Amino acid sequence: MSLPSPWTPDPDEWRELLAGEPAYRARQLWQGLYEQGLAPSELSTLPAALRHRLDEVVRPSLHLEREQRDPADGTVKWLWGTEDGVALETVLMPYRDRVTVCVSSQAGCAMACGFCATGQAGYQRNLSVGEILEQVVAARAAAAPRRLSNIVFMGMGEPFANYDRVLTAVRRIVGDLGIGARHVTVSTIGLVPGIDRFAAEGLQVGLAVSLHAANDELRSELVPVNRRHPIAEVVAASRRFREQTGRRVSFEWAMIDGVNDRPGDADELAVVAADARAHVNLIPLNPTPGWPTTGSPAGRIADFARRLTDRGINVTVRANRGTGIDAACGQLAAGHQPETPVTVGPRRRRPRAATQVGGLRAPPASGPSIL
Ligand code: SAH
Repeated sequence: MSLPSPWTPDPDEWRELLAGEPAYRARQLWQGLYEQGLAPSELSTLPAALRHRLDEVVRPSLHLEREQRDPADGTVKWLWGTEDGVALETVLMPYRDRVTVCVSSQAGCAMACGFCATGQAGYQRNLSVGEILEQVVAARAAAAPRRLSNIVFMGMGEPFANYDRVLTAVRRIVGDLGIGARHVTVSTIGLVPGIDRFAAEGLQVGLAVSLHAANDELRSELVPVNRRHPIAEVVAASRRFREQTGRRVSFEWAMIDGVNDRPGDADELAVVAADARAHVNLIPLNPTPGWPTTGSPAGRIADFARRLTDRGINVTVRANRGTGIDAACGQLAAGHQPETPVTVGPRRRRPRAATQVGGLRAPPASGPSIL
């Protein structure tokens, strides 16, 4: 059985682990973990005997399996392994004005969106609070001397399918790692109960909702969970989130060639975005092995964006980062069995080395029915 991460216990649990120690030890430990990003075994302020004792009950959960850097834009992708053999990925993106880390909330994902590499690979398990925080602590150390400024829960997994741990991690990121709530964004596929719960937490954290289609027929094909939480409910929950928190929701829309990038799609999106008073974020679809279509051409994205703007919607087009190392949106699909041959899907743009981070499921024999 693997030991819990030092970042998993809450202050009360730490007090129990520190039973018999002077009260100030808890404070020293919390500061060491969150301000300095050190594991208990590295805390020289603690007596050696205590460090050893703690090392037997808690230990960092993630070990680095592989680091890849994209020289084109400075993006760094980490593949982590855990003692129980699951793998997850984290992406650090330095920009001119900010440094953002994209963290995973689950190993794999059960939402099964066909165009997403994590969805194609399937679900393994929820990450612990510690496993989420260790990604952020590692990113903060790697960002130095720059300050890690933004956290986005847009890596592997569906954050609201791991609600309690994600919420605790968010509270520690804001309260103990000192990152402003407004610089933290949780992205959801649209789990309506999760959106409502999150709105009631009294946080100023941002919310992104992965919409991708504004009619139920198409959205249910792209995003299977739409059958459980259809668009009207997702849009209504987004509107409530905005009303309750005062924070604007952002609708994510992966631009898929010939699928959701036509003028009629923009018109439908404009209606629901206006309804929720949401910002729209267009993401050119990144190719993944199990999905037989590609991102929309730049000209069509520009036309789509203009059509939305003309209808009074706020739009941004997200720049692709880390495509050279498969670290871009939706490309995270960790697996650390390099001996497993990786199946190359239809219309792949780049050959994938057999030793590359992979373990992806074979593409379906026939393409998705929308094509
Ligand atoms: N489960 C959450 C967070 C993870 S995905 C969610 O669905 O929001 C983060 C974003 O990347 C989502 O908007 C997702 O739809 C998008 N995405 C997934 N696969 C993609 C791909 N191949 N190309 C571009 N964006 C993708």
